[in-house]
Amino acid sequence: MVSEERKRILLLLSPATYRAGAFLSAAQRLNLEVVVGIDLPETLADYWHVPLGVDFADIATSVQTIVEFARQHPFSAVLSVDDAASELAAHACAALELGHNSPQAAEAARDKLLMRRLMSAGGAPCPVFREFLLSHDPDWIAGQVSYPCVLKPLRLSGSRGVMRANNTDEFVQAFARLKRLLLSEGYAEHAFLVEDFIPGFEVALEGILTHGQLKVLTLFDKPDPLDGPFFEETIYVTPSRLSASIQHDIARSVSVAAASLGLREGPVHAELRINEQGPWMLEIAGRSIGGLCSTILEFGSGICLEELILRHAIGEEISSIERDTHAAGVMMIPIPAAGMLKAVHGVEEAEAVPLITGVEITAKLHHPLVPLPEGASYLGFIFARGDTLAGVEDAIRRAHKLLRFDIRREIPVLAHR
Ligand code: ADP
Repeated sequence: MVSEERKRILLLLSPATYRAGAFLSAAQRLNLEVVVGIDLPETLADYWHVPLGVDFADIATSVQTIVEFARQHPFSAVLSVDDAASELAAHACAALELGHNSPQAAEAARDKLLMRRLMSAGGAPCPVFREFLLSHDPDWIAGQVSYPCVLKPLRLSGSRGVMRANNTDEFVQAFARLKRLLLSEGYAEHAFLVEDFIPGFEVALEGILTHGQLKVLTLFDKPDPLDGPFFEETIYVTPSRLSASIQHDIARSVSVAAASLGLREGPVHAELRINEQGPWMLEIAGRSIGGLCSTILEFGSGICLEELILRHAIGEEISSIERDTHAAGVMMIPIPAAGMLKAVHGVEEAEAVPLITGVEITAKLHHPLVPLPEGASYLGFIFARGDTLAGVEDAIRRAHKLLRFDIRREIPVLAHR
């Protein structure tokens, strides 16, 4: 129980998040006291005066740190901004007896194999899947699966390591690439998934769960085809062009998927494919949309997604809050090639395109760019708002054409050892 009038929340942030500012200003508007828990070794956290340095990977110790802190400074809610601390937030909430997803549900939403098992057991429509080990002979696995298929790691996100293979040769190549990536990331478990490739149109649903009830906040269409071999996100537009009945089926599939995993509280972000057989669940995460994409969403009278999430976390009623009716869109600007980013041109021209509300280049100059399937980031974001979806989509494409990225493709010469 929190006795002070001003509610205090713990916000778990990974140092690389783009969303700290949006959550902190939303908390300020709601007059919440925010304690920031950052994924940092304790010594660095002390050095930088971060009140709570927690190791997101060491859940037991971090929960203890949070519980000790909460004895003196009780929390009304513990929230993870992105995937990185969703399991820690769930464990901390369980220890502090705060309403949240259970640790098991949080784990299932992070682990693609567990997610698939629970989804198919719970009746959510999802692709046929099989688990293999990186120690298996790739030629043998290639003969076990049907084509086209998708290889995917269990615990990476943002489409990292997700690759389509149309035949045995492509499978063996993709396998080698996935193995290199997982070994370089230091993954010990070495398991991965192979799924049937589901053709179709892709959408992303943004929602919030209250006592297991899904409220759809918005449904995004992804107008660019995502047919592989890698699955780089580009444009998201909302509201969806899909019919009301398909949207209803999508929401029902997401509800079934959430229930199968045991997700009951807080934001969900789901990705689905739609084809003549209906919606297929690709994934559901117990967090809101990543990157800076939430910038384009507005609810009620000027409420942003982060404020909505915070209101829900502290127990406010949000069921009547709806997204405004504008068309809105965002492009995650793909990395066209590996290399060193030397310069970015055309940002002002792109920003001047009618309906464009902003262009944010998040990639850093003089830093290496790594495209998918190995990379983990985008060049930046283009945002647009307007009266029609076609206008918004067209503005984003025009703005993107005006941007020029000077990428030096030279491969750095490594010193001989
Ligand atoms: P991540 O969590 O890394 O984003 P996902 O499982 O959501 O991984 O896959 C990333 C993208 O890969 C999806 O948005 C989709 O475009 C594509 N994808 C994944 N699985 C399939 C599948 N079985 N069939 C078709 N496309 C898929």
